This record gives sequence, C-alpha cells and structure tokens, in this order.
Amino acid sequence: MTMTVNKDLPVMVTGATGYVAGVLVKKLLEEGLTVHAPVRDPDNVSKLRYLNDLADKSPGAIKFFKADLLQPGSYAEAMQGCQVVFHTASPFIININDPQKELVDPAQKGTRNVLEEVNRTESVKRVVLTSSCAAIYGDNADVEKTLNGVFTEHVWNTSSSLEHQPYSYSKTMAEKEAWKINKAQDRWDLVTVNPSLVIGPGINPFATSESFRLIKQFGDGSMKAGAPRFGIGAVDVRDLAEAHFTAAFTPEAKGRYIISGHNTNILGLGQALLDKYGDRFPIPRKVMPKWLVWLAAPMVHKAMTRKIVSLNVDKPWIGDNSKSLRELGMHYRPLKESMNDFFQQLIDSGQVVSKKS
Ligand code: NAP
Repeated sequence: MTMTVNKDLPVMVTGATGYVAGVLVKKLLEEGLTVHAPVRDPDNVSKLRYLNDLADKSPGAIKFFKADLLQPGSYAEAMQGCQVVFHTASPFIININDPQKELVDPAQKGTRNVLEEVNRTESVKRVVLTSSCAAIYGDNADVEKTLNGVFTEHVWNTSSSLEHQPYSYSKTMAEKEAWKINKAQDRWDLVTVNPSLVIGPGINPFATSESFRLIKQFGDGSMKAGAPRFGIGAVDVRDLAEAHFTAAFTPEAKGRYIISGHNTNILGLGQALLDKYGDRFPIPRKVMPKWLVWLAAPMVHKAMTRKIVSLNVDKPWIGDNSKSLRELGMHYRPLKESMNDFFQQLIDSGQVVSKKS
C-alpha cells in the first residue's frame, strides 16, 4: 500500500478534544495537513480554543464536525475525502459506575461505527487506531504467563473483564473489533499504536485524562508518605504523536506497535521529579510497602481493589518496544524530561501549588 504524506488530502482524527489526540493534531497541523475533527460539541468554543489557536499558528488547517461514538453514521461527513483515519476517541476514566455503558460501549461500538464508516468511504487507505498496552496485558502478573517473560505485540490481554480492570477490558474489546472488521476486507489497512501510560504536556493544561489525575497526585501531598512500586510503562505524549504520524505514513508499517519509552513504576515516576521539584513539593521519596497499599487501597480509590494491588504492586512491568524502534524509528525522550515538562505545565496552570512558596 502506498502511503505518502499527501498534503492535498485531509486526514480525520477522532477525539481531537482529548489529551493524546491534541498533541497528534498539533503535529499534523505543523506538517501542513488539513485535519477533519469530528467532536461531540463543535459549538463548545472554550474546549476547541486550544486546537483553533494551534491551527492559527501552523501551516495546516482544522475543520470541526459533529459526531458521537455511539451514533452510527455520524462520522460520514468528516471522513469524506480523507486518506488516513486516526481513531483515538475512547473514554479513559477509572472512576465509573457502569463499565459496560461508560467504557465498553463507547470503546467497542465506537470503533465499530468508525470502521464501518471507513468501509463506506473509498478514499480511506489506512486507519491508525490508538489502542493501548492495556489490550496487551491486564495485570503485571500476566507477564509470568508470557513465553519469554516480556510483553510483546504477540500478547493479548486475557485477564481483564467488566469486573476486574474494566478500562483494560474496553481497550481489548475495541482493538479486537478493529482487527475483525479490518480482516473482512482488503481496501484499507490497519495499524495499531499501543501506548503505555502517557505523560508529558498536553495542548490543553486542563485536560481530564487520567494521566493528569495521576501526575497531580505527586504535587498535592497524596503520596507524601511514599508511593507503591506499581509497575507501569510510560511514554511521552509528544513521542506518541510522532508514533501515530509515522504509523500513518510509513507504507511498510504493519500490525501492532507497543509505544512505550520506559519500564518504570509509580515511585519511579515520582523520583524523576525529585531533582527539580523535591524541595518545593511533597514528591514521594520512599516505597510504600505492599501490605500497606493492600490495606489502604480500596479506601483511597474504589477502583483500586486488593486484587489489583496483589497482581501489580512489587511486580515489574516488562514491555518490549523494539518493534517501534526498528520499524517506526522511534526515539523516546528521557523520563525526567517528560515528567518535568508535565509537572511544570500543572504548576504554570495553577493545578499544582507549592506549599513552600
Ligand atoms: P481523554 O483526554 O479523556 O480523551 C478522550 C477523547 O475521547 C475525548 O476527545 C473525548 O471527547 C472522546 N470521547 C469519549 N467518549 C466519546 C463519545 N461517546 N463520542 C465521541 N468522543 C468521545 O483521554 P486520552 O488520555 O487522550 O486518551 C485518548 C486515547 O488514548 C484513548 O483511546 C485511550 O484509551 C488511549 N490511551 C491513553 C493512555 C493514557 O495514558 N492517557 C494510554 C494508552 C492509551 P470529549 O472531549 O467530548 O469528552
């Protein structure tokens, strides 16, 4: 399949109001592309301000359309004439009451709606789906069931369900749906990017993605007594935008790509902030022992069950990003740079306040 950057053809990005897609749209606009952005509310001026500001400063252009993941046919107008579809929209929320309605339906049915529209839109040649490492593993303990003790693109999450790690389950169901629809035809190809936890500054400092909620906790004192060694992978949102772009316009790109710069853990993320911010903010310095996390977790957050603690704390996340290095030419920036830039954005926007200033 020939996929070159053709600036005369627009590209479509779902979820452009979100954290991950915002930085991708920035990249596309800087490359001079026209971005079709179907959003839930194209009249919400304050929400679209960040995207409009970027378009004003870039060679590219942005056009908004109205669409909803749960409304079949709603992506038709935005997709017309597009060569590439980036499907990033999917709820990334942990605090939910009804996992089927709030997570799985928008993720899975939304993917079906977007891809059925791709089937009807002759101009589309490639779909880049923002999946997740959550579609590869459910708990860190799952690594013990892998062939070589490492999460690779060959591995699928088989441990999540509506009751346990429902967000991960929603991403698994969505990616499976995408491959099923892709395999039933041969006009367009599918590449999935599977990021680990995304960090780094977004275009909207007030984004509501779970990434923001987690990093704010390093500054608000929630972890001053210590942080768990809850294994996790991390990738910078700017590197992730590059990965989406390269996945779209590299003809040979194929299959799934783990996009993850660092195998770390929650304490490790905090420690990356210590040099620059340790004297002014209650950044965690100590390990919170697993038994204490196990005792306290359900009281701190209803989604953090004791089962999750048992299967993830003091268990490393071991991901293999070598396919992304080899085939997409990825260069991952240092963890410290991502964390410092992210934290600084939260300070500059007044969301994290130093107790000592
Ligand atoms: P986010 O900021 O919450 O963005 C989610 C986007 O999905 C928003 O634009 C939201 O639109 C849109 N959306 C949700 N429900 C929708 C619906 N029913 N119809 C239309 N649009 C809907 O989260 P994010 O962190 O950027 O996540 C974006 C993608 O990256 C998701 O697929 C997520 O699973 C994936 N991902 C994220 C991470 C991470 O650490 N952040 C890691 C791996 C994968 P509104 O603005 O209208 O709400």
